[in-house]
Amino acid sequence: MQRITVLGATGSIGVSTLDVVARHPGRYAVYALSAHSRVEELAAQCVQFRPARAVVGTAAAADRLAALLRAAGVKTEVEWGEQALCSIASAPEVDSVMAAIVGAAGLAPTLAAARAGKKILLANKEALVMSGQLFMDAVRESGAVLLPIDSEHNAIFQSMPQFGGRVPAVREQAAGVAKILLTASGGPFLTRDVATLDAVTPEQACKHPNWSMGRKISVDSATMMNKGLEVIEAHWLFGAPADQIEVVIHPQSVIHSMVSYVDGSVLAQLGNPDMRTPIAHALAYPERIASGVAQLDLTQIATLQFEQPDFTRFPCLALAFDALRAGGTAPALLNAANEVAVQAFLDRKIGFRQIDRVIAQVVDTLPHGDAHSIDAVLAQDAAARAAAEACIAGLAA
Ligand code: NDP
Ligand code: MG
Repeated sequence: MQRITVLGATGSIGVSTLDVVARHPGRYAVYALSAHSRVEELAAQCVQFRPARAVVGTAAAADRLAALLRAAGVKTEVEWGEQALCSIASAPEVDSVMAAIVGAAGLAPTLAAARAGKKILLANKEALVMSGQLFMDAVRESGAVLLPIDSEHNAIFQSMPQFGGRVPAVREQAAGVAKILLTASGGPFLTRDVATLDAVTPEQACKHPNWSMGRKISVDSATMMNKGLEVIEAHWLFGAPADQIEVVIHPQSVIHSMVSYVDGSVLAQLGNPDMRTPIAHALAYPERIASGVAQLDLTQIATLQFEQPDFTRFPCLALAFDALRAGGTAPALLNAANEVAVQAFLDRKIGFRQIDRVIAQVVDTLPHGDAHSIDAVLAQDAAARAAAEACIAGLAA
């Protein structure tokens, strides 16, 4: 029996994770679940999965959850706050941690899981983008096992049998690899007239052609910052320098990424676009379990297309490559500015094309430093958030 903590259980990835878990009742037991504010959804999950512990964002949310669970006769212990999140991620009772909180809020608990040597199922790419080397060092030092959930990185992982399937926890040149080919759907605005992008609404930006996801990552997919964050994520997970990572637009989202080798071989992983496939892969690794995803029917799909990304249409992609090349805390600045700008766009305070302008302004004006400690990273994260807020206030004025 594998005992699991799901961080961000009420989100898109969290719900898909519990869907797979529920298909294999004898195999997985849920130790703990977390949410931020969606208390009713979390209560329903507690009724179904009977975790020992549940964590929410505030004392008020904890009171509401506790009342709901009392009424339902469920004995789950209710806690709140970051310390509690770190505790359910690192408790000795836990074998595996699904890291599926969105954004920088996931850094502390994901790092706690890494330091405690857990099997980490990593969806929360922002945590790795922010902390890079520090996170990978924590994984290496504790002997944690790091399995990528992001569909592209899960595909790359499956296409790199030379690592025995284990993500290298030290930055090492992936032997024999010529290029990592990171596929991207291009999101909802791949072919839309660039001149009209300023006027798109949050609803349009969140309507992804192939994937159903949380709002933040949906906007990131529309700007292609998601792919930019994934380039940085691939750098850390697979030890590949920026020049070895290539983004390929593939609108069908059937090939989830590829690895091209020096002998001319290209290995790829294919599947229907449903996150339950990479989730099931990582949950059961190195075995295989059913995920509920339909088998891929290539004759139905018939056509797979590929093209190069347009960096003028998607300036966020260029900003992410620049941050990776700059190194140090530059990716943390980029990530923080992006989180603030995306939220401002979702709140209708800025237009879609102002997202990349805010990020560029923050990374251009703030000096980036050495990412020698988590405190240094968090200080840069806070500075970038303040600078982004000021920039947005200036745009609104
Ligand atoms: P969602 O927005 O759907 O869910 C986010 C989860 O995190 C919810 O459980 C939410 O709780 C919780 N949460 C939000 N803010 C906080 C906070 N400040 N502190 C603690 N918990 C918080 O996101 P997704 O599931 O789409 O994405 C989760 C992560 O997985 C992201 O990092 C994303 O980049 C990554 N990912 C997602 C994919 C997808 O298909 N969705 C694909 C690949 C990667 P509440 O519900 O109470 O708000
Ligand atoms: Mg992805």
